[in-house]
Amino acid sequence: MKTVLATCQSCGVKNRIPDIKQHLKPRCGRCKKQIDMRLANVGPVELDDAIFEDFINRNTLPVLVDFFSPTCGPCQMLAPLIIKLAGRYLGRIIVASIDTSRFPAASTRYQIRGVPTLIIFRNGKIIDRQTGAVPENLLIEKLESLL
Ligand SMILES: [Zn+2]
Repeated sequence: MKTVLATCQSCGVKNRIPDIKQHLKPRCGRCKKQIDMRLANVGPVELDDAIFEDFINRNTLPVLVDFFSPTCGPCQMLAPLIIKLAGRYLGRIIVASIDTSRFPAASTRYQIRGVPTLIIFRNGKIIDRQTGAVPENLLIEKLESLL
């Protein structure tokens, strides 16, 4: 599981926050004050086959999942945008990714035929999907419509 290093603005302690909890207004382990995660280096939640279904079903926020493969050029081009969106929409829309080359079960289940494929889930149901390169403004428009 990936963790995000987040410095507490109140007491200065560095906290390691599991990425699957980064949107849940985490509190500092020492002083218990809420950590401002906007100052942390937040990226997409790294999903795997074991937690995928539970994660998209349990969260009430919309979840954008980037199905990618590390060797795919268009995926690499999309990656910086996904990182940026994870930070921008933190706490409002969950931005996640799954490596289809390592975790085939979720890609089989959602019939991923090409990467990158972006699927937006709400309450575990697909509300949007797109395969291939997606222009930044179009993707942002889609995300804004979910808020
Ligand atoms: Zn603290």
